[in-house]
Amino acid sequence: MMVQYQALKREAGDCLLFYRMGDFFELFFDDAKTAAAVLDIALTSRGEHDGQPIPMCGVPVHAAENYLARLIKAGCRVAIAEQVETPEEAKKRGGSKALVARDIVRFVTAGTLTEEALLEPRRANVLAAVCEVRGTCGVAMCDISTGRMDLEECAAGELPAVLARIGATEVVAPEEWAARPGEAIPRPHGDFASDEGEARLKAVHGVATLDGFGSFTRAMLAAAGGLIAYLDHAGRGKLPLLLPPVAQDGTARLAMDAATRASLEVVEAQGGGRAGSLLAAVDRCVTGAGARQLAEDLAAPLTDRAVILDRLALVHWFHADPLLRADLRDVLRHLPDIGRALGRVVAGRGSPRDLGQLRDGLSEARRIRDHLEAKPDRPAMLEELLPKLGGHGALTDLLSQALVPSPPTERGQGGFIAEGYDAALDELRQVSGNARRAIAVLEAKYRDETGIAALKIRHNGVLGYFIEVPAKHADRLMAPDSGFTHRQTMAGAVRFNSLHLHEEASRIAEAGGHALAAEDAHFEELVGQVCAAREGIAATAAALARIDVAAGLAERAAEGGWCRPEIVEQACLEIEGGRHPVVEAALSRTGERFVANDCTLSPDDRLWLIGGPNMGGKSTFLRQNALIVLLAQAGAYVPAARARIGLVDRLFSRVGASDNLARGRSTFMVEMVETAAILAQATERSFVILDEVGRGTSTYDGLALAWAVVEAIHERNKCRCLFATHYHELVRLAETCDALSLHHVRAREWKGELVLLHELAEGPADRSYGLAVARLAGVPKEVVARAKSVLDRLEKGRAQTGGLAAGLGDLPLFAAAAEAEVEQCDELRERLQGLDVDALTPREALDLLYELKREA
Ligand code: ADP
Repeated sequence: MMVQYQALKREAGDCLLFYRMGDFFELFFDDAKTAAAVLDIALTSRGEHDGQPIPMCGVPVHAAENYLARLIKAGCRVAIAEQVETPEEAKKRGGSKALVARDIVRFVTAGTLTEEALLEPRRANVLAAVCEVRGTCGVAMCDISTGRMDLEECAAGELPAVLARIGATEVVAPEEWAARPGEAIPRPHGDFASDEGEARLKAVHGVATLDGFGSFTRAMLAAAGGLIAYLDHAGRGKLPLLLPPVAQDGTARLAMDAATRASLEVVEAQGGGRAGSLLAAVDRCVTGAGARQLAEDLAAPLTDRAVILDRLALVHWFHADPLLRADLRDVLRHLPDIGRALGRVVAGRGSPRDLGQLRDGLSEARRIRDHLEAKPDRPAMLEELLPKLGGHGALTDLLSQALVPSPPTERGQGGFIAEGYDAALDELRQVSGNARRAIAVLEAKYRDETGIAALKIRHNGVLGYFIEVPAKHADRLMAPDSGFTHRQTMAGAVRFNSLHLHEEASRIAEAGGHALAAEDAHFEELVGQVCAAREGIAATAAALARIDVAAGLAERAAEGGWCRPEIVEQACLEIEGGRHPVVEAALSRTGERFVANDCTLSPDDRLWLIGGPNMGGKSTFLRQNALIVLLAQAGAYVPAARARIGLVDRLFSRVGASDNLARGRSTFMVEMVETAAILAQATERSFVILDEVGRGTSTYDGLALAWAVVEAIHERNKCRCLFATHYHELVRLAETCDALSLHHVRAREWKGELVLLHELAEGPADRSYGLAVARLAGVPKEVVARAKSVLDRLEKGRAQTGGLAAGLGDLPLFAAAAEAEVEQCDELRERLQGLDVDALTPREALDLLYELKREA
């Protein structure tokens, strides 16, 4: 057995091996230790290996899903080794001592799940494959629970941002990437060959050319190859549902890097988890598929105005008709998840219940279509979606006729094919029904004949049908001519058989076996029909999800008094009465009111410097405007009274010092890396929010950096920007930067107490209120008093010397300064180019070096 085990383990590689032994999956050696720790189950031992006891643990097969779910969640991958023959077959093959043959039938990994119990209903489960072809990265991603497959390519530098957007649960990459940081699973280099990828895609979809699906680059095809090869490996040759690939254009999306996503808490809050994220605050979808689509929409807002307007028009349509919306949502709420049911059926892991779900979901979809088609003024997008809801008449009719109203999750027990669907099956069922009745008659007859009132005919898995009488009456049936044969003596009861009973029991067994076989054949036939219609069913599921998203967004808008944003091409941002959806929701739980604020950026006034006390609401204001942009471009209503949004190509957020110390980078380093990314990438169409740049270093360094960053954004990037800072000295930038204006969050001291108004006002902040905030936070009175006297001294000093920014009065403008530097460099370059190095004596060379150093 150990030899067989070791061979399978070699095949399983770094996956835990679930080794089937009767009713258990058993794990050995290190696998057992890992699983026992993760699952918190007993670690025991069995036998010896090299003189050492072999660590072992096991989980019962019937509860395996639950244990698998926990292992997958903990980041493990599992190889399932099943018995692929019965013990009888093994004996026939190799004698009485033969070992049952086992084989790995499947790898269970986070990205290759289809089981309902292992998936979160409201979260997509994405598997991604990445590779590089001549400096360009190919990314293939699919959600095999619904079959969606997207291909994309990006510059190598953009890959982290793309992966952050996708949020894959599992990523595979060529093995040579193993050295790179990240958690990609290494796969053979050869899997990622582009011609191989193209061939695999063609084979999967049975086409001679991919042209019908769109045009794909070599990098995309290479990644697709790696993805399909991995799925093939995980399913041991059985591929899951894969829909035709869609080429995604990364530039049609609002670009956000990983840091921006994390800081805006788009689909996940900073601490991890959905609660507290924008998604949680917006999501009112009533179906899992809708929630998954919404998460994707928010993770990848659009930049194409026409598509955004289409989405908004659909939300508007549902917003305008609360009754229609309520009715529709009621229907959607009870809809089964047909996308995922389809995924299981195609992957060969479907159950009769999945077929039932498809029947119910598809017929409901048709009713929704008929209902919506009767409504006036339908927006263009709905006109596109409605036809996708129908077209399954023949299939739903077939499923309705074939299946019982609520089919079981177990296929092996039968009982899911409806009466009247198959006359032969009905007859088999009748035969076994008659035989069952005959057995009941027989029981009464035997009671009469023997006079034993306690006689029973019973059934169990080992003996089949038998006659049972209490031990004290057994003698009467033991007589040789009684017609009964003894089978088993129990404590208190004795069991018998009779010729008649045997006949009836055989009829039941035979008919039952034939009936099961007939149902199984019907199941395969129905699965075949569903598979043939896979693309249409997937389109219906996607259309239903879109409708749920739009109706859910309309519901959210109605609930919170949100408005339909106007989307324009100019670089403006006009938001009246804007709110932060997450902070507002948190405040309302404690009965507090959120103070709405305006933001009006335009090409002439595109950089707002925002001052004011800590806790005054600066970062909330920054984020709320970024979130409003994000929501609008995802095609949602926004938490504001009015919004006019100039399309944004890239969104950057650097708010608060995110704690990256665990990754070995200091806070300040992280801040600078992120700031560098913004300065390098922000365009005139971008929107940037920056909070407290320079806080992580000394005062002078910090102020100097903040100053230079604001200047650079104003002069070079020319993007829309909200910049919050506590450096009062920066207000002087307003003198030189004409598209920059000063704002602050208001606060008042009232009877010695600080009152934060959370209200944005024009002009510079009058003072910093740092001590008042300290007092508010409960810093002891004596400490605050001491700080006050230190402050007085400092301020006196500042008055005398001109303060922190003294000496900045004659600082040349950013552009002029930069130009002067460039000129100096040019001069140097010219001199160096004009130099004939070979003609110099060592002495002359040395003199020249001294001269250059003097000038530098
Ligand atoms: P700052 O960045 O100025 O230090 P924050 O934006 O972090 O301040 O806000 C601090 C707290 O003030 C928030 O957690 C929230 O409770 C409250 N707050 C912020 N903005 C508002 C607002 N517009 N209305 C009501 N409360 C707000």
